[in-house]
Amino acid sequence: MHELAITQNMLDLVLKKAEEAGAKEVKRINLVIGEMTGVVEECVQFYFGFLSQGTIAEGAALSFQPVATQARCRLCDKLFELKEFDWACPHCGGKEMEIVAGKELFVESIEVE
Ligand SMILES: [Zn+2]
Repeated sequence: MHELAITQNMLDLVLKKAEEAGAKEVKRINLVIGEMTGVVEECVQFYFGFLSQGTIAEGAALSFQPVATQARCRLCDKLFELKEFDWACPHCGGKEMEIVAGKELFVESIEVE
């Protein structure tokens, strides 16, 4: 459900950047999306198609770069990939951890003309 607001914010940012660059058309938008954000690509794609109508970003390709959820164990200090239903350190079984990756959500770059 929150994809609509996310897509709107993303589009606003892209249009602002494109305008600053004096672009006539936005060709591609490269997005980095962490697994933990729960953002569904299809939804962003759908909202983008509809929100970008009549803007210079209309028809731009969206490219998604997913980021796996990574955690650091507070007990043994090892890094590991966090699986959805497995909230324990695979090295020592510890359940105290810090999320170090997977919450990313940003526009990495845009390609304009
Ligand atoms: Zn551990």
